[in-house]
Amino acid sequence: MGALFGNYARRPIALVKGQGTYAWDEAGKKYIDFTSGIAVLSLGHAHPAIVDAITKQANEIWHTSNLFASPSQEKLAQTLVQGTHLAHAFFCNSGAEANEAAIKMARKHTGKHHIITFEKSFHGRTFGAMSATGQEKVQAGFGPLVSQFTHLPFNDVAALRAAADDSVAAIMLEVIQGEGGLAQVTPEFAQAIMDICNEKGILLIVDEVQTGIGRTGTRYAFEQTVLKPHLVSLAKGLGGGFPIGGLLGVAEIYDTFSAGSHGTTFGGNPLGVAVAQTVLDHVFDESFLAQVKERGAYLQQKLADALTGDKFSILGQGLMVGIYLGGEDVSPYVAKLEEAGVLMVQAGPHVLRVLPPLNVTNEEIDEAVAIIASVLQ
Ligand SMILES: *Cc1c(COP(=O)(O)O)cnc(C)c1O
Repeated sequence: MGALFGNYARRPIALVKGQGTYAWDEAGKKYIDFTSGIAVLSLGHAHPAIVDAITKQANEIWHTSNLFASPSQEKLAQTLVQGTHLAHAFFCNSGAEANEAAIKMARKHTGKHHIITFEKSFHGRTFGAMSATGQEKVQAGFGPLVSQFTHLPFNDVAALRAAADDSVAAIMLEVIQGEGGLAQVTPEFAQAIMDICNEKGILLIVDEVQTGIGRTGTRYAFEQTVLKPHLVSLAKGLGGGFPIGGLLGVAEIYDTFSAGSHGTTFGGNPLGVAVAQTVLDHVFDESFLAQVKERGAYLQQKLADALTGDKFSILGQGLMVGIYLGGEDVSPYVAKLEEAGVLMVQAGPHVLRVLPPLNVTNEEIDEAVAIIASVLQ
């Protein structure tokens, strides 16, 4: 027992150096890092443009608080909403905080309290975000939770129609359930959500904390669906490794937050904003996004070719990929993969997540898939 609380199931290796898709542990062992710090390192470890951006900013100013004007936050907000139906942004420090802001916004804007979310969803660990999360293991022992959250089966149109009454402020979902096993919203369900939101004046919150910032091959995953969210939460990949979160929203909700109604000391910190702007300058480029789609398709095809046998199925979109092992517990494989030199993370008990940096090369994919196949076959 050390000085840290035991709230993480930490693996025994400590990563002390990273370069691109690779990381090294204290003993000097090299790994292919297909966790990307849980979909965080959009451009891999120690990308020179990010190192430059943070170094330059560190020599200028680190922190101002939100008492002062922030042209760099304004520019980042514009970059995030440009070319979408969204209009405004608020910056915070994490995914849970972004969802917390979304929940508060939805309640205040509609004057209603009830929020529909889905089973196996994950929205974070703060009280609001945890109450939104559709996983008992995340909530166990912490009650009473924030009331008025209903968790429905995912992709069940009839259940949604039955629950979406006049008390509902918002429907909140992930386009692909990152922690829940890579289940994807179906086109029928997405259409039903839009119909119901339009009919009832319900707000739509899409949690893009994991799927956003190019991970699925478009800037945001909702762009590959009919979903037009009023609110979009971001974090993970936005900072490329620096902690920053954000909430995007449509113009019609602008007045809901007035001066003093919501905030956070560190939100939109100059270092985080400088890094996030650099991430977006790379990732929100059409040719970069096209490359994410290509590499994602390549990765999925390589995995499908290498993992023969009925038990395997390949899930996901772009470079947010999962390997389903026919209902087998995947945790022993995570350890074996690490031993063999590939770092991966689970998505629920039955899916291995493959999360390379968005600038991974085909050669790195080949190298990793060969190892993955030798461990899983
Ligand atoms: C990781 C995650 C969160 C929580 O983000 P934190 O930064 O850990 O608070 C919320 N939603 C989704 C979909 C996530 O993957």
